[in-house]
Amino acid sequence: MEHSSPAEVNVAEADQVQGSPAVYRSGQEIECWLTDMDGVLVHENHAVPGAAELIQRWVDTSKRFLVLTNNSIFTPRDLAARLRASGLEIPEENIWTSALATATFLKDQVRGSGSGNRAYTIGEAGLTTALHEAGFILTDQDPDYVVLGETRTYSFEAITMAIRLILAGARFIATNPDATGPSKDGPMPATGAIAALITKATGREPYIVGKPNPMMFRSAMNQIDAHSETTAMIGDRMDTDIIAGMEAGLHTVLVLSGITQREDIAAYPFRPNQVLNSVADLKNQI
Ligand SMILES: [Mg+2]
Repeated sequence: MEHSSPAEVNVAEADQVQGSPAVYRSGQEIECWLTDMDGVLVHENHAVPGAAELIQRWVDTSKRFLVLTNNSIFTPRDLAARLRASGLEIPEENIWTSALATATFLKDQVRGSGSGNRAYTIGEAGLTTALHEAGFILTDQDPDYVVLGETRTYSFEAITMAIRLILAGARFIATNPDATGPSKDGPMPATGAIAALITKATGREPYIVGKPNPMMFRSAMNQIDAHSETTAMIGDRMDTDIIAGMEAGLHTVLVLSGITQREDIAAYPFRPNQVLNSVADLKNQI
């Protein structure tokens, strides 16, 4: 098993790992954890049983960890408050959003290529705060970038402005590819759907930073000084969390407390390293 890739670990084997210490496939102990939020720690605004204990265990044992979300609406502070209301105490410094990943990516681009630091944004405080703190000037005057994030109130005027600025040469960036987001009344159009509209109007595809782009995980790992050989990713989606975790070289843990059912796994041409019913099963391993 020492050199087995994720694709070689079948689900039956992965299930047998339950109860034994969480180790990377080389046998090294996992030092850092990345975890998805929705469907893993919270489900429909309620904490998943075992999630609070897992987080507490990580905090108590000084494990380096980040809770990842493609949602770019909220700042980490906002999200920490919302999670607290769901029964989860997660320090804001342990939350990593697609907006933070996007701001980090763009800051590196500016530093590495000498690109300008002017950005026109469509989004909410999660995105504007992240870009502002990364040193960007937010403007509709001759921006270097158009950065599209998520909002509950997409404005036709703002979308029109974004289209014109991209046609005039601004580079098109999106925080995440999700086509819809949840609301209490049903699905709402999200970043991916608006990006498709802008692409149709401009003929330009965005560079998308959030999951399943492994860039989201790389920036998260840099943030906590994690290395892929000793880092694990927990998620509930095969097509984002698990594939991106695998491509980033991480130990992958699929939990069945969210969108994926056990019988869905076989349809994918890749496998997680471990499959667990929920994070409640994981807390016994660490
Ligand atoms: Mg999820």
